[in-house]
Amino acid sequence: MNVAIVGGGIVGLTTALQLNNDMRNCNINVFAANYDDVVSYTAAGLFRAGHSFTGPSEEITKKWIKDSYEYYNNISNNYEAIHCGVKKSDAYMFANSSPTVVENPLMESILPFYRKVTNDELNMVGKKWKYGSYFETLVIQGKYHLPWARNKLKEMGTKVMLKKLTTLNELADDYDLIINCSGLGARELCNDRRVVPIRGQVERVRAPWIKTTFYGELDTYIIPGVDGTCTLGSTRNFESMRMEVCPHDAKSIRERCEDLVPSLTKSVTLEYRVGLRPHRENGVRVEIEKISNDRRKAIVVHNYGHGGYGVTSAPGTAKYAIELARDFHKSSNAKL
Ligand SMILES: Cc1cc2nc3c(=O)[nH]c(=O)nc-3n(C[C@H](O)[C@H](O)[C@H](O)COP(=O)(O)OP(=O)(O)OC[C@H]3O[C@@H](n4cnc5c(N)ncnc54)[C@H](O)[C@@H]3O)c2cc1C
Repeated sequence: MNVAIVGGGIVGLTTALQLNNDMRNCNINVFAANYDDVVSYTAAGLFRAGHSFTGPSEEITKKWIKDSYEYYNNISNNYEAIHCGVKKSDAYMFANSSPTVVENPLMESILPFYRKVTNDELNMVGKKWKYGSYFETLVIQGKYHLPWARNKLKEMGTKVMLKKLTTLNELADDYDLIINCSGLGARELCNDRRVVPIRGQVERVRAPWIKTTFYGELDTYIIPGVDGTCTLGSTRNFESMRMEVCPHDAKSIRERCEDLVPSLTKSVTLEYRVGLRPHRENGVRVEIEKISNDRRKAIVVHNYGHGGYGVTSAPGTAKYAIELARDFHKSSNAKL
C-alpha cells in the first residue's frame, strides 16, 4: 500500500512514525512545504491540554491525550533528552482569578502526579498567588524533537520530501491512503474556513538554573527546554497572520515572566519567534473522506486543527487516524 503523509510538523511526523511501526509493509512518503519554519518548532512544548481542547467526544479526547503521554514517556525513557528533545518536567501553575484555572480534570486523570500547592509554594515565586497546582509532566522541544523524528523516519526507509501541494487530488494517482496533517495549511488545501490562526509570540532565553516550568495567568509561562534554554511566553491574537515580531508583545512577555520568576532578569535573550496556532472552531478534525481525480480514487484521513495543544495531542490523534484508516479498509474488505 502506498501512503502519503502531508505535513512535516509534529502531527505529520508522529503520524508517519506510528504508521511505520503499525503497518510495516507500507511504502510511506512524507510531503511538506516546510520542515523547519513551522509552528511546531516555535511551540514551547509543554505536555498539557487546556480546557478548550476538544475532540469528537470526551472519551476520545481523553484517549488521544493518554496515548500521547504514553508515546512521549516511552521516548523519554529510552533516549537521551538532548537527542530526542523530550524530558520529564515539574510544573507549577498559578492563578488569582479562579481556582478552576489551575484545575484540569483531564490532565489530572492522565499525569502521574497532580496536586494543589501548599501555602509555602504559593509564596515562593514573584508575587502572592491565591491558587496553584503542581504536576509532573513532559516537555517536548521542537528544535531537537523534529529533526530526531525525521532521522528516525529516514532510518526506517520513509522518504521525506519538500513539496507544496495545491490540492490533495494531486496525490490520488500514486497513493491509496493520504493522511492530511497540514495544520493551518488545511484552510487552503481543503478549503476548511473553520481553521483559523491564533498568533503566538515567544522569547527564547539562556537560563540554565531554571529547571521547573512556571505558568501564570494571561498565557504567561516559563518552560525550560532540554538544553539550558527556556521559552518565555506568550500572546494569543485570534485571526492574526502577522509573522513579524511585535516589540510591544516582547516587552509585555518579559515583564510578565520576570514578575512570575524574578531571576529571569539575569537571562540572556537568544531569539524571538512567532507562530500561528492552527485552531479549528469545532475541534480537531480526525475523519475520513473519499476523494478521486479523473483516473483514480483514494482515501484521505484528515488530522489537523490542533490549535494551541498540537504537541501534546499529536501522537494520540495520529494513532486514532491510523485506526480509522484500518477500520475503513477492513469494512470495505480491502487488503492492508
Ligand atoms: C507560541 C506557541 C506556543 C505553543 N506551545 C505549545 C505547547 O506548549 N504545547 C502544545 O501542545 N502545543 C503548543 N503550541 C501549539 C503547537 O505548536 C501546534 O498545535 C502544533 O505545532 C501544530 O502542529 P501541526 O503539525 O499541525 O502544524 P505545523 O507545525 O504548522 O505543520 C504543518 C505542516 O504542513 C505543511 N503544509 C501545510 N500546507 C501544505 C501544503 N499545501 N502542501 C504541503 N505541505 C503543507 C507545512 O509545511 C508543515 O510542514 C504552541 C503554539 C505557539 C504558536
